[in-house]
Amino acid sequence: MMISHDGGSAISGDLLLRLHASAPLPPGGVALIGAGPGDPELLTLRALRRLQQADVVLHDNLVSPAILDFVPPRTERINVGKRPGHHSWTQQAICQCLADKALSGLRVARLKGGDPFVFGRGGEEMQALLPLGISVEVVPGITTALGAAAALGFPLTHRDFAQSCVFVTGHLKDHSVRLNWPALAQPQQTVAIYMGVTGLEAIARELQAAGLAAATPAALVHRVTCPQQQVWFSTLADLPETARRHAVKPPALLVIGEVVRLAAQWPAEQHQKKEQIQRA
Ligand code: SAH
Repeated sequence: MMISHDGGSAISGDLLLRLHASAPLPPGGVALIGAGPGDPELLTLRALRRLQQADVVLHDNLVSPAILDFVPPRTERINVGKRPGHHSWTQQAICQCLADKALSGLRVARLKGGDPFVFGRGGEEMQALLPLGISVEVVPGITTALGAAAALGFPLTHRDFAQSCVFVTGHLKDHSVRLNWPALAQPQQTVAIYMGVTGLEAIARELQAAGLAAATPAALVHRVTCPQQQVWFSTLADLPETARRHAVKPPALLVIGEVVRLAAQWPAEQHQKKEQIQRA
């Protein structure tokens, strides 16, 4: 069956599975599973169960090898991530493959980094599958911003420093960075930017132009919670230079806001400021 991808189809609520933990994934069903940011200990129990019940697992490159180790050897694995030198899968081809596998009666696990509904295109996959009568279960995962806050030891919200927290993508479909800069530059707010490495220069410039202080603390974190985790602290103004100096590569998350100062490893020369803030 061919699937179209107009995203406008009516969705039957009955097909969105709300399985009890003990109910296995049914044949012909798809589980959209969040793998979390990398550390296998951050996988949910339900995600683990679904991976063990699946006949086929379609996964992204962001899913760490330690998590793929939970997939039984008999299970078919398909890497649908973009890899240099390999044919790269379009979103349409991924949806088609999910549909074909499910319609042939297999139990399908679609494993994604972080949470499937946070910049993970899980919504697009759900929209493609439900109109075909394929049942879908969504298994949430720990999104990168939550993993980063925990790993680095700063809260995303704090009564003294941030009453709101926003998650944005720094990479739009047409490769531009067009965001609501005045909304992001609000005081007392933490901004977590996914896919922001390539647009970093524009992000730092636009946030300052919209009024966010040049000295606002920022953290750049590569492969958070994985063995290759690397973290760089900076100010908003110095972010582009920090990223250039250390040749920071994706996947990396950018977090900007006063809460970053509370990180356990916030640089020593800034500690005085941290103490002042804590006393304030
Ligand atoms: N669904 C994912 C996000 C997918 S978008 C989630 O909920 O986390 C891909 C972006 O996520 C990457 O460009 C990067 O900004 C971020 N990301 C995913 N895993 C990461 C990791 N382990 N460390 C740092 N950033 C990560």
